[in-house]
Amino acid sequence: MRSLLGKKFDRRVAWLREHFPLKEKKRISVRTVKAGSLRVGKKQVQGLTHKICTGHYLVVVERSQLFVATDTLIHEWAHAHTMQRQGIPKDPVYFHSRLWGQIYARIYRRFTKEEP
Ligand SMILES: [Zn+2]
Repeated sequence: MRSLLGKKFDRRVAWLREHFPLKEKKRISVRTVKAGSLRVGKKQVQGLTHKICTGHYLVVVERSQLFVATDTLIHEWAHAHTMQRQGIPKDPVYFHSRLWGQIYARIYRRFTKEEP
C-alpha cells in the first residue's frame, strides 16, 4: 500500500525489500504515522516491533522530511536483520551492537550509491 510519505519513500522501501530481504521469508512491514502522534511524554516510540508469533517485523516511521524518514527506515531495517541473527537483546544498551553497525553501514553505503 502507498504510504503518505510519497512515491520516493515507497521506492526506497521496495529497494530495501529487494536488496536486503530477511531470511526465511520473514517480512518487514512499514507503516508511516502522522508526525508527533507517537510521542508518549518526551519519549518518541517510533521504531521496530518484532511480532514474535509470526517472526515478522513492523517498522513505524513518522511522516517528516524524506531524508529523516529514510534514515529511520534504514536504521530500523538494520535492527530487524540484527535481531534475526542475534535475537532480541535483554538490555537496550546492546541494541546498537557492532553487528547492527556493520549491517547499517552496509545498507547505507549501497543506498548512497544507488539512491533509489
Ligand atoms: Zn536503534
